[in-house]
Amino acid sequence: MKLEGAKVVVVGMARSGVAAVELLREKGASVRAVDQNPLSEPGIHIEPQTEESFLDAQMIVLSPGVPPDLDVLEGARQRGIPVIGDLELASWYLEGEIIGITGSNGKTTTTALTGHILGQTGIPAQVGGNIGTPPASLVRTSRPGQWNVLELSSFQLETTDTFRAHIGAALNVTPDHLDRHGTMERYADAKGRLFDTQHPGDFKVLNADDPICESYARRGDGAVVWFSSTREISPGSFLSQGNIVLNGTALMKTSEVPLRGTHNLENTMAAAAMASLAGATHAQIRSAVMTFPGVEHRLEFVRRLAGVDWYNDSKATNVDATLKAIAAFEGGLWVILGGKDKNSDYSILASPLRAKAREALLIGAAADKIESQLRGSVPLMRCGTLGAAVAEAHAHAKPGDTVLLAPACASFDQFENFEQRGREFKRLVAQLPESGGEMQHG
Ligand code: ADP
Repeated sequence: MKLEGAKVVVVGMARSGVAAVELLREKGASVRAVDQNPLSEPGIHIEPQTEESFLDAQMIVLSPGVPPDLDVLEGARQRGIPVIGDLELASWYLEGEIIGITGSNGKTTTTALTGHILGQTGIPAQVGGNIGTPPASLVRTSRPGQWNVLELSSFQLETTDTFRAHIGAALNVTPDHLDRHGTMERYADAKGRLFDTQHPGDFKVLNADDPICESYARRGDGAVVWFSSTREISPGSFLSQGNIVLNGTALMKTSEVPLRGTHNLENTMAAAAMASLAGATHAQIRSAVMTFPGVEHRLEFVRRLAGVDWYNDSKATNVDATLKAIAAFEGGLWVILGGKDKNSDYSILASPLRAKAREALLIGAAADKIESQLRGSVPLMRCGTLGAAVAEAHAHAKPGDTVLLAPACASFDQFENFEQRGREFKRLVAQLPESGGEMQHG
């Protein structure tokens, strides 16, 4: 569509929406910016979102936060008005090829790791999407011959049409955001759209152990590259005798990967497979992985105090991420759970908690539901706040134990977002006094 002079409405004025407005203006469109909460944004006049806002629109661009099935949008579609997402818009103008990474968990880690490997290897790349710089803001710095490594959420993929990734990856698809997508089928379908537009010569890096990811092998024309943490598979990457194998040869020892947990070996295999497709050698991938610092709030080591390790996994906002966090430790766990429920089933945490946890410390609005689903599996302590949970764990944990914030819930009941929750946890842990005289383990 020709944007010069076109009347375009952008809905949702968080960062992605603002970036879309700026890109559209650069392309000569006449843009209206609307939001349910028309707070001011420097340089952009934001109007309240009413039916009138859309009447003379020739195209509508949605931010990832906006449900694409709003009545006004349905009405516009019926009038033949294209309704697209900010990712679709950006993809019309992005120079260079795209690596698109989706999944329920691990997107940010894998995107950052892939960008890190390409960067360390000297392969031109920029990183963005859901992870930070919005897709529309990447357009200006994109160049032919450069990779755009994009973290893609189901919300962004739901509103794509012609967007195409030369390399696409699906890490896993487990229940999340069902409050927004309704059913697992719709959620899985939105993520799978990443592969529908691929051409012959493109690649899809898929988790062979995840039935939904496996089903994406049948979508679009990209060639499949698998990864698996449970079995030998080809073409692709798997674990064998303490090694990561990639394309038939050993890449590195699993013990050389600086991140904890099998789930992070999966992320590493996916990132390595993509970096290899982008031209990195095994030696380059190995040395880059070894220097990856990890991402804040993802199973982040905070402190060892009196022999007790404290980990911040505030980004564990769904049950599967919490399962993976628990699986990354041998036992002796004090797990802080709770926050805003996302219609989740916590009962699948019962058996791993029974096996590995000394106590579950419950906080926030979901505490009642979690308590009723986990009663009998592990001692439960109602703490209410994060501060009380930290104090409870500090009072009772023994040397060799681990305190793990992996709440399995969103943060919005008590915090602005998971980052604020994680920072607050780290602040509370940093303040805990060194209890003089207690045994310190190296
Ligand atoms: P996303 O961007 O998809 O939310 P993150 O890398 O931010 O992914 O990780 C989100 C949460 O999921 C964190 O708690 C992290 O420890 C956990 N996690 C990371 N990788 C995986 C994976 N491959 N499978 C399951 N959980 C994961």
